[in-house]
Amino acid sequence: MSDMQLEMNFEQSGNRFQRHLEAGKFILLIENSSPGRDNDPQASAERLAALEETVLGINDICTALAITDRYNNFASWRAAEYAAGLSRENRDRHVIYISGGDTSVEETGNLIQLAANAGLRNVVAVSGNKVAGEGLKETRQRSFTESIATLQMLSQKNFYCGAAVNPYQYTPFSLMGQYYKLEKKFRNGASFGVVQAGWDMVKAQSLQWYLRKQDLYVPMIARLIWLTPDKVERILAGEYPGITISKDFQKILNKELRYSNNQFEAAQLRRLELQAAGFRLLGYSGVQLAGAELPGRAKIAAERIAGALKEFTSFEHWLSEYNSYLARAEMAPFWRSFYLFDRALIRSYPQDAPPEANDMGPVQVSRMEKIRYHVRKALFHHADRQVPESAFLLKKSIALCRGNCSACLLPQCEYVCPRNCPKGLIDGPCGGVTPLGNCEVNPAQECRHCKIVRLAHWRGTLPELEERTLNKGNISR
Ligand code: SF4
Ligand code: SF4
Repeated sequence: MSDMQLEMNFEQSGNRFQRHLEAGKFILLIENSSPGRDNDPQASAERLAALEETVLGINDICTALAITDRYNNFASWRAAEYAAGLSRENRDRHVIYISGGDTSVEETGNLIQLAANAGLRNVVAVSGNKVAGEGLKETRQRSFTESIATLQMLSQKNFYCGAAVNPYQYTPFSLMGQYYKLEKKFRNGASFGVVQAGWDMVKAQSLQWYLRKQDLYVPMIARLIWLTPDKVERILAGEYPGITISKDFQKILNKELRYSNNQFEAAQLRRLELQAAGFRLLGYSGVQLAGAELPGRAKIAAERIAGALKEFTSFEHWLSEYNSYLARAEMAPFWRSFYLFDRALIRSYPQDAPPEANDMGPVQVSRMEKIRYHVRKALFHHADRQVPESAFLLKKSIALCRGNCSACLLPQCEYVCPRNCPKGLIDGPCGGVTPLGNCEVNPAQECRHCKIVRLAHWRGTLPELEERTLNKGNISR
């Protein structure tokens, strides 16, 4: 068949991923990381073709591929390049990621063009994690393109865009930082969301309740991980930024690790079944499964998840099975963790009486922070209306100014310079933030963006911060 005929077939098919998601079909995405550049390209392409054939041959559940980009490895093929190995007539069924990690805005634009030329239609934009093993100094030397800048570029090319969020946050400030940023992504072109992997279903439900309260009826896909002993160790060693295992869950996993290999795997599959069925009953539109990139495993996972969707059709039935399977283990990693809603995971969404959000509670601000705030406010309250370079040395010594802004953000950000984020992100916290709101790159320090939310709560300016956060998608780029 000629290229032109293929193109016509492709055009006729429209965007099947979007159509399925918007029609309410529950979708299973099998996650596949783009391989390292040292892999044999021919062998990699053959592996991808075999996986695609298996995935598209699954009939029990609507299944496609999600190809991640630079996930923990910057020396890999870009997903937009690797996805060229997918069958051309089916590219609208799959999703690719574009990571801003170690990628300039110009390079991001080139990747978007590459994806458009290849007929790829569905893209999740992420800012990118730090590289495992790299510290503050190395990370600062890399440039990160923010997911919101990528979403704006993708929208101009009519891609169907997704945005990532990490709702497994346990302080009010780190949680609300994630929620605000997700809303901002929806205002800047994202039409669906992908949720970081986690096991705390109360947090998963709270996100759905929050979105409903904001009148945001956007399809959300929950990421799952098929755990292996090696993966458990790597998560516990902190190699997967933003992913947490609670002490209780760790105890369960330790017990399972003493089983035979077959029993361990059976336990993981049952957990995946329960999670997938639970996510659907909590209102999610699909799941994205990592760890099933071999065709045999993808097939088993799809069969088991499809079976679970048939097994659990009522929230109450699922909840009783889920609680007895986990023996009511505590999935929050910390005592006195913050939850936005009470009574989540006791009932499904109460249509008649929408749940009230909990207050963020008292805020701790040290004496030194208060002094710094007032000094910076006195000196820089007009900084957004001045030439950004003005008073650079003063701003550098008092507000850790890094320069290079088209407009200074200090007055909008409680006089905390967001550019001091090791990745230089200004739009809000990344998904790698720790569950207590510390920085992915420098865990000894609070994430700059969580700090801004905390100070705004102290000042009573949270509504203004939220409004500014939501409405200024392209500040000072
Ligand atoms: S936002 Fe930060 S880096 Fe930019 S001009 Fe203001 S203080 Fe300097
Ligand atoms: S400061 Fe926050 S947004 Fe920046 S790298 Fe650290 S955790 Fe991510």
